[in-house]
Amino acid sequence: MADTIIECGKGHVRWGTWVHGASVTTIKLGPRRLGWCPVGRHVSLLRRTDETQLTPAQRRELFGDA
Ligand SMILES: [Zn+2]
Repeated sequence: MADTIIECGKGHVRWGTWVHGASVTTIKLGPRRLGWCPVGRHVSLLRRTDETQLTPAQRRELFGDA
């Protein structure tokens, strides 16, 4: 279930899930974690964000132009 907006260190945003607990693919760093960004195809520091903090460009990326 992808219900969380995840932003990488380069500003890419995507819908994803933020599962607490052990993970073999991420390293927990407090509220941030190192993980794979499929948008830019790179490893980056990811963080959860919410709709109110998005730029207009990020909003378009997530919700489309409608
Ligand atoms: Zn990225």
